[in-house]
Amino acid sequence: MAKIKMTTPIVEMDGDEMTRILWKMIKEDLLEPYIELNTEYYDLGLEHRNETNDQVTIDAANATKKYKVAVKCATITPNAARMTEYDLKEMWKSPNGTIRAILDGTVFRAPIVVKGIEPCVKNWKKPITIARHAYGDVYKNTEMKIPGPGKVELVYTAEDGTETRELVHNYAGPGVAQGMHNLCGSIESFARSCFNYALDTRQDLWFATKDTISKKYDHTFKDIFQEIFDKDYADKFKEAGITYFYTLIDDAVARVMKSEGGYIWACKNYDGDVMSDMVSSAFGSLAMMTSVLVSPDGNYEYEAAHGTVQRHYYKHLKGEETSTNSVATIFAWTGALRKRGEMDGNSELTAFADKLEKATIDTIEEGKMTKDLALITTLENPTVLNSEEFIKAIAEKLK
Ligand code: NAD
Repeated sequence: MAKIKMTTPIVEMDGDEMTRILWKMIKEDLLEPYIELNTEYYDLGLEHRNETNDQVTIDAANATKKYKVAVKCATITPNAARMTEYDLKEMWKSPNGTIRAILDGTVFRAPIVVKGIEPCVKNWKKPITIARHAYGDVYKNTEMKIPGPGKVELVYTAEDGTETRELVHNYAGPGVAQGMHNLCGSIESFARSCFNYALDTRQDLWFATKDTISKKYDHTFKDIFQEIFDKDYADKFKEAGITYFYTLIDDAVARVMKSEGGYIWACKNYDGDVMSDMVSSAFGSLAMMTSVLVSPDGNYEYEAAHGTVQRHYYKHLKGEETSTNSVATIFAWTGALRKRGEMDGNSELTAFADKLEKATIDTIEEGKMTKDLALITTLENPTVLNSEEFIKAIAEKLK
């Protein structure tokens, strides 16, 4: 059988620990037998980041701007312990942070839904995708402890020196205060990423803030979304048969719990942080969660939502058997291959991505799975496979 050809490369970012081991197996057993893989390879493993003074991360992000599609393996974000473990020159920044700063955009996280791994919320039948705004608010705040009586004000000094003041509070005793900000440009690109992703995936888009209480800050988010929608997206949404729905955050939460899923929920930075963990744990497992960074100028970087599964890696190094779930990493590859296929008009590649996803889901639904899923499945007598056996079982199905 002739292998599928790729006209344009995908940017491939290799990573660390257990996910690096899975990465190699996925390529060898599930991709290379069927595709003449055309990737531009960047090794984001911590050792190579250290050797290149992290230049490799910057190069990989810039390559993503060139080729528009990337797939990334999970990587270590160094902390004090990693400094010694890897004898690092510096505590290099989170690669995801660096890539996000270069590409800009919004991270969309969606659970992979399979029969036998049932959400805790009974009525959730379809995935709920969380779109988290990844700039500003409380994550870029300035805080103060107020020691005693006095007043706190917000002061805006325009370039010509004129000042506008707003009283925050007249303190009669000790307390706390916090200042935070956001940028219209960032909110606009967040809105566009969400509208584009909704069109791409043909799902309704929900957005919610607390605009009744935060009449300027949150209301600006609401207004920007509505203006951009009316101007550039209303017709396209109608054509695609999808809707844009705005409501208050408390109403949204209540509706989400009663819904059957199948939409994108756009969240401000803090809401997205909290809600994505709620949604992913309620859907079953971090290892079944995909993640894609979509930039406003149409670049896509796919990855698994989980980390490098360090604990399994140390077992692996000791020669012990591991049962690490490779589903989210496989779906990172299929996401990237499908997008490459769509961009290049390569229907064979798109069809292959669909087949590999189906083979993965079918394998689990037949009762063959890794330990993390076996512990939560509603299927009776699941077969627990080790990391390698699970990938081989998918390869069998794919044949
Ligand atoms: P982790 O996601 O690797 O693991 C968290 C927990 O979930 C662990 O108990 C683990 O056993 C379980 N788990 C996660 N993925 C699994 C899988 N595929 N199969 C089975 N079980 C799975 O997060 P962590 O332990 O906090 O971090 C480990 C390393 O990963 C750290 O160095 C961190 O910096 C890095 N990290 C990277 C990313 C990324 O690259 N996107 C994200 C998170 C953490």
